[in-house]
Amino acid sequence: MIRIRNLVKKFNNHTVLDGIDLDIEPGEVVAFIGPSGTGKSTFLRSLNLLEKPDSGTIQFDDDTYDLSHISKKETLRLRRSTAMVFQQFNLFKNRTAVENVEEGLRVVKKIPKNEARQRALSELRNVGLEEYQNHYPQHLSGGQQQRVAIARALSMKPQLLLLDEPTSALDPERVKEVQDTISLAAQEGNTMLLVSHEMGFVRKIASKVLFLDGGKIIEQGSPEAIFANPKTPRLQSFLADIE
Ligand code: ATP
Ligand code: MG
Repeated sequence: MIRIRNLVKKFNNHTVLDGIDLDIEPGEVVAFIGPSGTGKSTFLRSLNLLEKPDSGTIQFDDDTYDLSHISKKETLRLRRSTAMVFQQFNLFKNRTAVENVEEGLRVVKKIPKNEARQRALSELRNVGLEEYQNHYPQHLSGGQQQRVAIARALSMKPQLLLLDEPTSALDPERVKEVQDTISLAAQEGNTMLLVSHEMGFVRKIASKVLFLDGGKIIEQGSPEAIFANPKTPRLQSFLADIE
């Protein structure tokens, strides 16, 4: 069980996240939706300390981290519990696909080279890219690059996978292959926190949907409840606007 409590993040005097509480069960896919600029990325980035929150805790089973008062050592430990997939893939451009996946296994997990290579290849196989192992990112499509990024994140066996609009930088014809890769990772039991504007995908993959607006979770529920029966006027108008 992952428990997030009272996450507050301000930029200057602007409160972006105003005390977010969230519980995530193992294997759950929690999706964040909400207007642009409402703090969805900031929330994800706060959980692995790419942003430093003003207050808040995150608990992974028996380990609780105070996000606003955290040592370097604990920061590294927390980062090993999470992995992030970004909108812009963020692969190392001067490394091949397999080297991109291998990097964290060697540097973070300290796995010997041969074993790291085998594990990286196995992760690439799972996302259907074994034959592209020696390609550099510039010789991969956007969809393929994002699948490498997902393989890299999953290779770290994170307790929580953070995905920030993983398909929004892709050509339309590449969106489905990445969504299918994410769906497979979900079926395999990976616990995920997903930000997405693709409502059809959210509806299909999420176990729980959260609507964030004005720094707070305004409404949450099953995909059916959120999309078929939104209760708050703000969620109703958000959904009406994006249709
Ligand atoms: P989008 O759907 O467009 O990706 P979002 O919900 O992910 O939006 P965030 O990127 O989290 O929104 O931004 C939330 C708010 O915080 C915005 O008002 C943004 O301008 C502000 N913000 C984000 N990062 C910073 C920063 N480093 N410094 C100052 N303000 C920031
Ligand atoms: Mg964002």
